[in-house]
Amino acid sequence: MSEVTCPVCKNVIGRTYYIDGVAFLDCGGVIVRDMKANCKQCGRAIFWCVPDVRLERLIKRMLKNRETYAADDNC
Ligand SMILES: [Zn+2]
Repeated sequence: MSEVTCPVCKNVIGRTYYIDGVAFLDCGGVIVRDMKANCKQCGRAIFWCVPDVRLERLIKRMLKNRETYAADDNC
């Protein structure tokens, strides 16, 4: 995980949070996949977006894993 900072004033916005290779933004209490925000210190626009296709692939992988676990339970 690495720190995400404002490109103008270096204010710390959060950290990158990787779930299965997909980069989300960790803002402390929440994991962000889509954000339109402004820096609290200088007002610079900050955008964060996980493309839908990447999210779709991630969810499909997770669902596939869940099926495997469910199958294990039946043994
Ligand atoms: Zn800033």
